[in-house]
Amino acid sequence: MLNNLFGAFSHDIGIDLGTANTLVFVRNKGVVINEPSVVAINNTTKQVLAIGSSAERMVGKTPANITASRPLVDGVVSDFEVTEAMLKYFIDRVHEETLSFLPRPRCVIGIPSGVTEVEKRAVEDAAKNAGARDVYLIEEPMAAAIGVKLPIQEAAGNAIVDIGGGTSEIAIISLGGIVQSKSVRVAGDKFNDDIIQFVKEQMGIIIGERTAERIKLEVGAVYPLKEEIHTIVKGRDVVTGLPREEYITNVMVETALDKSSKIVAESVQSTIESTPPELVTDIIEKGIMLAGGGALLRGMDDLISHFTQIQVHVVDDPLSAVVRGTGIILDDIDSLKDVFVNVEDYQVPD
Ligand code: ADP
Ligand code: MG
Repeated sequence: MLNNLFGAFSHDIGIDLGTANTLVFVRNKGVVINEPSVVAINNTTKQVLAIGSSAERMVGKTPANITASRPLVDGVVSDFEVTEAMLKYFIDRVHEETLSFLPRPRCVIGIPSGVTEVEKRAVEDAAKNAGARDVYLIEEPMAAAIGVKLPIQEAAGNAIVDIGGGTSEIAIISLGGIVQSKSVRVAGDKFNDDIIQFVKEQMGIIIGERTAERIKLEVGAVYPLKEEIHTIVKGRDVVTGLPREEYITNVMVETALDKSSKIVAESVQSTIESTPPELVTDIIEKGIMLAGGGALLRGMDDLISHFTQIQVHVVDDPLSAVVRGTGIILDDIDSLKDVFVNVEDYQVPD
């Protein structure tokens, strides 16, 4: 009863706890926070110095006693305390920006599919310690599917692929449940590593993470493009140690990403292959939906289509699909309760 009363006013929030980016959706407001999942910590005192965008600016520029870490780097809670600090910071910010006399928010949180019970518990506890009243966990591919308005409750197959920073997740959804899923630890971060390696080995230039990210955004591709595009790589010469500049093209990046991009596409292919034929028929008709930041990599849709022989559609605003899904769920927590994956069986609060 009290929950219903509060529900009318409360600023319930949806969170996409991504390996690369954390997004927060506030009911009746939309996406209010979109920041990198980075926390800067003083190693000596263990004190949290900065979170989100301000912590990101420290990456690679910090003195030895400060680390800028990404607590969810493999799509799981690799550092519980840091994850909790990050969640608390974001939840507090929402609380401050809205009417702080309101009750603590209910939270719907997207977590990677295939996390262990221990990890689920860790996220749930972190959110509760961070100030959430009730916590509802949902697998990210399910949230993404809801976010892009797939008819997940129908008895028909829906395929969604979410390529993030740490993991690529593939899920086949029908009747409100995940029928088949796969998660591989090859995604945006690995693509950046591949670019760093390629530029070092093939061009003899040493670059860092930020430069690799820029190259990926500017000329990254995983399938041939109609026209060649290029950008400049600036780094240190492997031999002389002096600054050097070269051109890099989409074709070169395609070579750099060849192995990793194929792992992603093959994972989609094998997931489709192990899906019941009835559902595959639906998927062939509707196509595969592609979400997450990796959906924006040029030719990712074509590559997956090439491997699966099924049409692939990049969803609108692929980086916010998961958080938009958690936002839709906030409006409908009771009727969508089947989609939650909390450790204990979900119960509608009194
Ligand atoms: P996560 O859910 O793991 O936080 P996101 O869905 O936010 O991940 O996607 C972040 C990843 O997407 C990063 O690796 C980033 O480099 C990549 N990304 C974002 N925009 C683009 C783009 N235009 N082209 C290629 N990769 C991109
Ligand atoms: Mg994500």
